[in-house]
Amino acid sequence: MDFRDTPAEATFRQEVREFIAKEAPKLEPGAEFAGDYAEQFAASQGWFKKLGERRWLVPAWPKEYGGAGMTVTEQFLFNEEMAIARAPRPLHMIIGVGMAGPTIIVHGTEEQKKYFLPRILTGEDIWCQGYSEPEAGSDLASLRTRAVRDGDDYVINGQKIWTSIAHLARWMILLARTDPDAPKHKGITYFLMDMKSPGVETRPLTNMAGGREFSEVFLENVRIPRSNIIGEENRGWYSAVTTLDFERSAIGSAVGMRQSVEDLVRYAREHSTDFTSTLAENAVLRYELADRLVEAEVGRMLSYRIVSLQSKGLIPNYEASIVKLYNMELNQRMARTGMHVLGMYGQLERGSKWAPLRGRIKYSYLRSIGSTIEGGTSEIQRNIVATRGLNLPRGD
Ligand SMILES: Cc1cc2nc3c(=O)[nH]c(=O)nc-3n(C[C@H](O)[C@H](O)[C@H](O)COP(=O)(O)OP(=O)(O)OC[C@H]3O[C@@H](n4cnc5c(N)ncnc54)[C@H](O)[C@@H]3O)c2cc1C
Repeated sequence: MDFRDTPAEATFRQEVREFIAKEAPKLEPGAEFAGDYAEQFAASQGWFKKLGERRWLVPAWPKEYGGAGMTVTEQFLFNEEMAIARAPRPLHMIIGVGMAGPTIIVHGTEEQKKYFLPRILTGEDIWCQGYSEPEAGSDLASLRTRAVRDGDDYVINGQKIWTSIAHLARWMILLARTDPDAPKHKGITYFLMDMKSPGVETRPLTNMAGGREFSEVFLENVRIPRSNIIGEENRGWYSAVTTLDFERSAIGSAVGMRQSVEDLVRYAREHSTDFTSTLAENAVLRYELADRLVEAEVGRMLSYRIVSLQSKGLIPNYEASIVKLYNMELNQRMARTGMHVLGMYGQLERGSKWAPLRGRIKYSYLRSIGSTIEGGTSEIQRNIVATRGLNLPRGD
């Protein structure tokens, strides 16, 4: 693979860079880590609208669905530039654009595409993902939320948990059991659920970094029309896996990692007098920073592999698990190195005038624990890589 931008890609990159410099809101540095998603979303509405006008919310979606019809590589360049500039990423990009939309494109009916895709693009609808339940996370197929057919509707009863941005979402991609007697992977149906339906109750949870990020969602006699099924009844598992592949490819992206190392190096240089030992005297810290830079480059290469598969029209599978596993564990090491660079100051959080980098490292240190859990834990990714990537036998 030639890692250099083609002339067309270089022009596009420059265009994106200039657009971001001119139009992106100048949020307080570190504001993206403040942990209040509603606040971030409200502050960035105008910016998202400008992105939408350019069709840059979904550069790689086909033009007929409102995208810019760009290549997956251009989309990656775009994401890289957004990360480098620390431009706010629209929340609806994460689940609506990154997971629900692509699943609807692959498995949805024409009516579903016509109705839902434009609303994802404009940001009119924010989406959340109702997969996990109190007793079903890694073993997702054991989920118990029930959907019972009643005329043209299904009636849903059950509970979801850890549902990111459910408190802001208008729609949920929901997995529910339609055939309790079938083998567990075969009795699940994939629904699109209006979060404003009667019987949906969202109770926000606070993550350990203090962010109001996810919720418990209780479903009591919620009616979903039959036309809101994705794919066929009882065959939802297959569409669900498509969504997970999109999710893991996106979560795993290493864009901006190099930037994080450079931020730390700059900080360590500028604040050398705050340290008991400076970078020049502290070989261990120098080596640690060098390791993170090498790893950030490895992560970037792994992300390029995903981009390369996607640009050939393939959906990455165990490759997405490799990249998710590697980059999210790297995320944790990066935050740990950040703590080593900041020393005792690293424990201070946003709000304190002494908090280095506005508490960003402290937030990342705590939040990055969740990144090796969300979208499937590191153990589960290792199982996938072992069985599907290496053809090793399953354990009992
Ligand atoms: C920040 C965050 C955001 C999230 N957002 C969403 C969301 O929007 N929507 C949603 O549906 N879910 C979401 N989740 C839930 C997430 O997908 C689950 O937490 C995850 O899949 C793990 O499930 P669990 O919590 O039930 O843990 P469990 O499955 O109970 O696992 C407990 C431990 O056992 C290990 N383990 C389990 N099975 C195996 C095995 N076969 N082999 C080896 N080890 C194993 C796990 O790795 C883990 O260490 C989110 C989670 C987090 C942390």
